[in-house]
Amino acid sequence: MSSPPPPTARLPYPYREELMVLASLMQGLADNVDWPAAVRTARPWVQAVRDKPAPFWAMESLLREYPISSAEGLALMRLAEALLRVPDAETAIALTADQLGKAEFDAASGGPHKMLASISASAIGLSKKFLPESDGDAGLFKRLGAQTVVAATVRAIQLLGRQFVLGRSIKEAMGEAAAARKAHASAQRSSVGDSGLRFSYDMLGEGARTEADAQRYLASYLNAIHAIAAAKNAAGPEAADGISIKLSALFSRYEDAQRERVVNELLPRVWQLIEPAARADINLTIDAEESDRLELSLDVFDALSSRIAAAFPQWRGFGLAVQAYQTRALQVVDEVARIARTNQLRVMVRLVKGAYWDGEIKRAQELGLAGYPVFTHKHHTDISYLACARALIANADVIYPQFATHNAGTIAAIIGMAQAKGAAYEMQRLHGMGEGVYREVMHDTTIPVRVYAPVGEHRDLLAYLVRRLLENGANSSFVHQLSDHAVDVDALLASPLTPAAAVGIAPPAALYAATGRVNSTGVDLACTEERAPLDRAVAATAVPTVAEASPADVDAAMARLHRGFTPWNATPLAERAAVLRRAGDALAARLPEFCGLLVKEAHKTLGDCVAEVREAIDFCRYYADQAEARLQTQALPGPTGESNELHLHGRGVFVCISPWNFPLAIFAGQVAAALVAGNSVAAKPAEQTPAVAQRFVELLLQAGVPADALALLHGPGETIGAALVADARTAGVCFTGSTAVARLINRTLALKDGPIVPLIAETGGINAMIVDSSALPEQVVDAVVQSAFRSAGQRCSALRLLCVHEGIADAVIEMIRGALQELNVGDPSLLATDVGPVIDADAFEGISAHIARLRAQATLIGEAPVGSTFPRLIAPVAFELPRIADVTQEIFGPVLHVVRWGGDVSAVIAQINALGYGLTLGIQTRIDSRALRVAAAARIGNVYVNRNMIGAVVGVQPFGGEGLSGTGPKAGGPHYLYRFCAEQALTINTAAAGGNAALLAGLH
Ligand SMILES: Cc1cc2nc3c(=O)[nH]c(=O)nc-3n(C[C@H](O)[C@H](O)[C@H](O)COP(=O)(O)OP(=O)(O)OC[C@H]3O[C@@H](n4cnc5c(N)ncnc54)[C@H](O)[C@@H]3O)c2cc1C
Repeated sequence: MSSPPPPTARLPYPYREELMVLASLMQGLADNVDWPAAVRTARPWVQAVRDKPAPFWAMESLLREYPISSAEGLALMRLAEALLRVPDAETAIALTADQLGKAEFDAASGGPHKMLASISASAIGLSKKFLPESDGDAGLFKRLGAQTVVAATVRAIQLLGRQFVLGRSIKEAMGEAAAARKAHASAQRSSVGDSGLRFSYDMLGEGARTEADAQRYLASYLNAIHAIAAAKNAAGPEAADGISIKLSALFSRYEDAQRERVVNELLPRVWQLIEPAARADINLTIDAEESDRLELSLDVFDALSSRIAAAFPQWRGFGLAVQAYQTRALQVVDEVARIARTNQLRVMVRLVKGAYWDGEIKRAQELGLAGYPVFTHKHHTDISYLACARALIANADVIYPQFATHNAGTIAAIIGMAQAKGAAYEMQRLHGMGEGVYREVMHDTTIPVRVYAPVGEHRDLLAYLVRRLLENGANSSFVHQLSDHAVDVDALLASPLTPAAAVGIAPPAALYAATGRVNSTGVDLACTEERAPLDRAVAATAVPTVAEASPADVDAAMARLHRGFTPWNATPLAERAAVLRRAGDALAARLPEFCGLLVKEAHKTLGDCVAEVREAIDFCRYYADQAEARLQTQALPGPTGESNELHLHGRGVFVCISPWNFPLAIFAGQVAAALVAGNSVAAKPAEQTPAVAQRFVELLLQAGVPADALALLHGPGETIGAALVADARTAGVCFTGSTAVARLINRTLALKDGPIVPLIAETGGINAMIVDSSALPEQVVDAVVQSAFRSAGQRCSALRLLCVHEGIADAVIEMIRGALQELNVGDPSLLATDVGPVIDADAFEGISAHIARLRAQATLIGEAPVGSTFPRLIAPVAFELPRIADVTQEIFGPVLHVVRWGGDVSAVIAQINALGYGLTLGIQTRIDSRALRVAAAARIGNVYVNRNMIGAVVGVQPFGGEGLSGTGPKAGGPHYLYRFCAEQALTINTAAAGGNAALLAGLH
């Protein structure tokens, strides 16, 4: 069974050409936006705000002195993000020392905040005296001093946080709101009721990772709605306070791939909130999140709207936030209006610019998407905002627009537009932001303003606080420029209505433009248009049978390859490289077909298949470039009358033996490297996955590899592999697989007479992740689940051993247990599947036996449920063990071993080194110097800090280990090709025939 056909997209393709999208947004805007009038309105606001600067302790003031782009601003942000959640004093001290140590808080400020700069500088300078210089032991006096410094820093960050959070509980927040309303009313000399100030409460926290998290958020939202309803201060959702909710907080799998679960589990949960909100007749708005959930959010909104139409047809308070930075924003507005009209509802739409811009750009680059789903120029976002505003106002019969922005120019333009049309609307700002501008705006008492008011404890506000720090500190942001008096008012209020001539950020395909290499294009699986070809390919694929080679076939192939080596080696380097580039391009064009084969033959999930084909494409292109850059003849210096050159060429017949877990990428990488260096290649794929290999060999032949330079020899390792390695004509072996087989190959080669044959071996590892108590548990658990369980743990880079600091171990372990419960184990051809089967019956039995042993010897943390009857499924599982040394074996499956640690992290890395393997290591810490110290001490090939530890990218993270994990050089790295080459130094005495003509002619 394959994935059901994807639902029809409501919105256009997200990766349309930005400038074309802009051109259509601009149509009609010039007639509707009177920008010079907006400037006339906004200029006095800006002037008034600048005349009454924020107090010195306010975030704006701090970030003016230390913008996020400076080391100091960055240090502040890092501390703000992590310090409050660190449970133990040692780590808190190390973190504070690490961050404060990096910064020079003595900015030579000549501005109005010179005072602040010098006060902070001397305070921090003094504080630093008490902090240890490195992440190590400090004396008692230093420790006592350091604790005081840390306590003061914690307090300072709490104060910063308080600026953006209205209260720790809904009760406290409502009290603050009442006080603010009263103060505002008295300033306006109006009664409290019509002071024009409304609130929308938001319950803070990270997105849910477990069902328990989601239930906690649900209860907290419910509690807040009841409290708001009970204290309702005005009639109707426009005038009363309301609530904002995040769907990712209510369901840990709020993802496009989990559409069915979203419908079955999330919708009823949101309905539980809608019922009391509708009964109380208050505004409930669904916040906007990342772009890969945009279509899904509309499905949710649509389904809930039709239910509301039946149950609460009179309610006018249901709302959705729309992000203008999306290239599809205008169509989102149209779609929301259509949904409202169909259901005869009047809905509320909060128009924002968007909070995840940096994340959207990074995701698109990582996945190699066809473009960005968001605009790449700030003023394009502004244009889109105005175009969406116009559309919202035009749909006033079904939409109540809520314009959320702190940008004075945007606010003035919107108010102008709305007033010209006589439309009802409100403005919105975030608590702690844009206060100055809105103080001015609200002199016009006809303009209603709602404050988005986060509620939560210190621990919950950190992620939110960082967002606000970024917004206040980023150079592109209006609020930052407003507080910077060096920015001229005309520049601050410059019209956005002139689209740029080119995009602001080169597309993901150009990520490696500096090296001249084209990045492979990926697939956005959340986009139906991009996913459909994959679904069709999977449905149409049948795995062909590949004939096994006989010993005679091996002999004949080796003879042929031996003959074929000389002409191929003599083929100019540029031609060999061109063949690889053609192969890479052909593979890119046939990506869906290869994905279909990978799903069916290797039982990989769709996401893994796409990543694997991309890796193979990247290998072809990268090695082509590397060959041309590194394998050319080099002229060497020497005495006059002599020429010296270094030539690199192929060694002969290279035997490439690859594994089943990356039957395309590793196969392609080995073969492409060997070929481009001038070798002929005997390629032996894994017994389980010959069809993918055969298809790729056909593709290489079509791309121009001569038939005598490449042979596929499928068969058991014990016979075919062994015969190839033992063959006298074998000039080199490249192997990826288990350490045990690598040893066997090594011994066979050592026993051979004749030339000593090089072996490149890439083997397994007991890969660890070290987590200290400054790490964010949610991020840790995301990285752990991806690293340990994705691909059913069948990656050589996969996480096997999680070493977590005792200070946060209980929380992390609890979250891993909950996250395991949410994994979807089943048929890999289904989009919803997170974890597919293991490769074969042997693997299934071996892993099952290990799990059975662990059940008896270790403490079970948790395991994923398995509802599917698909064969060879192993439930991802985690166990706790007492010591690192208890993990003695690499288990190639979805099994995680967890160990707690305390004390010095150096002892942990020493124990990991002692295991003897050295492939991948994960480090999760906010202490930068600690991450570097651990990485330096690790005898490990690939170290990943604060992310998952799988999915090495060609040319970006060259891959391969040391010790028991392999010989090197690293695949996908700059030193790889040399190992496939023989070298020749060619020295010619150019003075031999009669003398040194060049010297005498003065050509030296
Ligand atoms: C009440 C309220 C509720 C909000 N709710 C949400 C929500 O649910 N979901 C959400 O995502 N956001 C939400 N936001 C928006 C967000 O958090 C920011 O506050 C907002 O984007 C800042 O916009 P601005 O008009 O005040 O500032 P401006 O400085 O005028 O604009 C900043 C915007 O420009 C974008 N930008 C920066 N550089 C570029 C570039 N090179 N190319 C393109 N765009 C760029 C930024 O991402 C940001 O969106 C909300 C904002 C408010 C005020």
